[in-house]
Amino acid sequence: MSEGSIQGHVLSPVLEYLEALHAQFADHLEGEVATYIPELAKANGQWFGICLATTDGQIYEVGDSRRPFTIQSISKPFVYAAALEAHGREAVLRKIGVEPSGDAFNAISLDPVSGRPANPMINAGAIAATGMLPGDTPDERYAHLLGSLARYAGHELCVDEAVYVSERETGFRNQAIAFLLRNAGVLEDDPLPTLDLYFQQCSVLVDCRDLAIMAATLAAGGVNPLTGVRALDADHVESVLSMMGSCGMYDFAGEWSLSVGLPAKSGVSGGILATLPGHLGIGVFSPLLDARGNSVRGIAVCRELSQRFGLHLFNVPQTGATVIHRTYSADEVSSNRVRPPAVAAALQRLGRRIRVYELAGALSFGTVEVVVRDVLDKVNTQDFVILDLERVTESDFAAATCSPHSPFA
Ligand code: GLN
Repeated sequence: MSEGSIQGHVLSPVLEYLEALHAQFADHLEGEVATYIPELAKANGQWFGICLATTDGQIYEVGDSRRPFTIQSISKPFVYAAALEAHGREAVLRKIGVEPSGDAFNAISLDPVSGRPANPMINAGAIAATGMLPGDTPDERYAHLLGSLARYAGHELCVDEAVYVSERETGFRNQAIAFLLRNAGVLEDDPLPTLDLYFQQCSVLVDCRDLAIMAATLAAGGVNPLTGVRALDADHVESVLSMMGSCGMYDFAGEWSLSVGLPAKSGVSGGILATLPGHLGIGVFSPLLDARGNSVRGIAVCRELSQRFGLHLFNVPQTGATVIHRTYSADEVSSNRVRPPAVAAALQRLGRRIRVYELAGALSFGTVEVVVRDVLDKVNTQDFVILDLERVTESDFAAATCSPHSPFA
């Protein structure tokens, strides 16, 4: 037994690792807290929390993982998701682009001809998405916003009034962006209520644990792993993660993709949320920011986690031939079944032209393609293929499309 284990109490190695990671960066106090929203300047540079949430609902948290802070730009992917759900992909695409701008979060990246913002992760695109939240009145839209974010977090959320008022009173650049959006027809009516709602959405209070659970909800195809409640239609999860993947870290998106390789979103209060689809969500909180407005320790922690645990999305383990549990021809098996002599004799004679594949695990394009290739290799010596799917745990549409069928199965 390792030192971390005491009789009856074995510390999870994952938690042990997170504690060591937290300790490793606890004294790294590089960066500055955001001050352009005066209320955010009150943050303490020491605050530092890390949380991991798996898609089956396991939580690992260390440090200031329960300290509330305002979600800021991390709200953007979730509001984009709500716009997609309310209006569908085509309608949203007409108003908000999907290209990384490579610019800062508050860049005025509007297409010179259409006036369409570059993408939904920068302020311009995010304000446009807020303008698409459904509801007939500002109260209804506000309720829709909070209700939607709450489903990802798994509990009710509220707005930090002081931060909201602070941003509303000083957010002149965002005002300018909102009026330009109105001028281009991307916002269709008075931009001020939409802007107000955008400031409210940025001021929703969360903690690091919430971020990890929200990220895990995206990782789990839109279903909150703790509550089992669907927060987002599965069809839109891919679009939201794509935008996080290419634009979530603003003008750091390329380097982030290289060294961390996870769809992510940062906010100026110091949060970073990252998702490994199918597996887990990460939330980090540390208010000291670099010049691009991303949390310095947040980036460092995600980089370490990704490298140590091999989380980079393009580092996919080879699944290859593993779905073929066993393969044999029918004359190689003996059965207890009593058959009429003629049938038994026919089976003996023809059995070697019947091939059985016992498949196991998850069938997808990659794993089934290997089976198909094997079947085609033997096409001249086999008349029939039997697929035994008893051990198959899941099968997607791609697997069904390329499974060996006529004329063999
Ligand atoms: N509320 C902030 C703003 O619009 C959000 C920016 C951010 O978190 N990057 O300026």
